[in-house]
Amino acid sequence: MLTTDGVFFIPEMSADPRVRVFRRNFNGIEGFDGMEVDAYVVITKRYVVVFDTLLRPEDVSIMIQMVEDQLPGRQLLVVNSHADWDHSWGNAYFTGEHAAPIIAHDLCLTRLQSEEAHKELLDYQKRYPVFQNVSLVTPTITFDQHLTIHGGDLTIELLPAPGHHPDHIAAWLPELRLLLAFDAVEKPIPFMENAEAVPSMFATLEHFLALQPKQVLCSHGKSTKVELVEENLSYFREVERRSRDLLQKHRPTQDELEHASEIIHYSFDEVIAGSTVPIDRTFYVWAHDMNVRSLLQWLMKN
Ligand SMILES: [Zn+2]
Repeated sequence: MLTTDGVFFIPEMSADPRVRVFRRNFNGIEGFDGMEVDAYVVITKRYVVVFDTLLRPEDVSIMIQMVEDQLPGRQLLVVNSHADWDHSWGNAYFTGEHAAPIIAHDLCLTRLQSEEAHKELLDYQKRYPVFQNVSLVTPTITFDQHLTIHGGDLTIELLPAPGHHPDHIAAWLPELRLLLAFDAVEKPIPFMENAEAVPSMFATLEHFLALQPKQVLCSHGKSTKVELVEENLSYFREVERRSRDLLQKHRPTQDELEHASEIIHYSFDEVIAGSTVPIDRTFYVWAHDMNVRSLLQWLMKN
C-alpha cells in the first residue's frame, strides 16, 4: 500500500492494471469517523479517466501524481458518479492549468448548482479546515440516458443508477465485466435518499445483476464481490417484507416512524449479523433507520 497524505493506492482491489483504486479516509469529520471513500482511475488506450474526485482538490492532485506516467499521449477525462461531497468536491483540481472535461448526469449539474449544495459547503468549511480549498465546480458534459467512452481497448458505458440519489450513475466496462457501482452498492448497506427513491433502488440493483458482472467495485466498504449486490438487494427485500407485515396490522404514526427499524423489528445488529469486519455504526445505524422509514412511507403512499 502506498501512502500519501491520506490518499492510498490499493492495488489488491483491482484485477486489471488499467483499473487503479484510490482510497481516502474521513478521519475527523463528525458522524463519519472510520469511513472511507474510493475513487478510480481507468487507463485506456486513448483516455485516462478519473472516476470521482474525493473530498478536495488536494486529494485529486495526489491521485494524478500516482498516474502521471500514463498521461502523455492520452486525453484526461473526469466522471462524477453523483454530486455528494465525498465524490465531487475535488472537481476544482480540473480547472485552470489542469482543465479537463467533467462528465456527469444532468441532475448532478443541477445539484452542484443548487443553493443547498453551496450552503452545505459553507457549513462544512466552517466546521472542518480540510475543506478550505474546495469550491463547487460543475460538470462540463452531461447526459440523461447513456454515454459511452470508447477508449480503444476498453469501453466505458455510463448509465443512470438512481436510488441513492437521482443523479447517481454507474460505469460498466464490458471487456472486463467490471461494474463501478459507486454508492448504489455498499458494505454493509446502501443508503436510499427518500421514499421516492425506493423503486429506483430496487431497479438499479436488479439491473446490476442482469449485467452479470465478474467484479463490482463500490465507493464505501472495500468490496470487489458481485455477491454484495445480491446481499444489498436481499436486505432491501427483507426491509420491504417486514414493512408489509407491519402495515397489514398497523399504520405507523409520525412518531413511530422516527424509530422505523424498531417498529418493523429489524435491528441493525440483525442486518449485520455474522459480519466480522469493523463497521462505522454511527452512520449505518442511521442509514438503516432512514431506509426503513423510506420504505414504509413508500408502501403507505402506494
Ligand atoms: Zn459516498
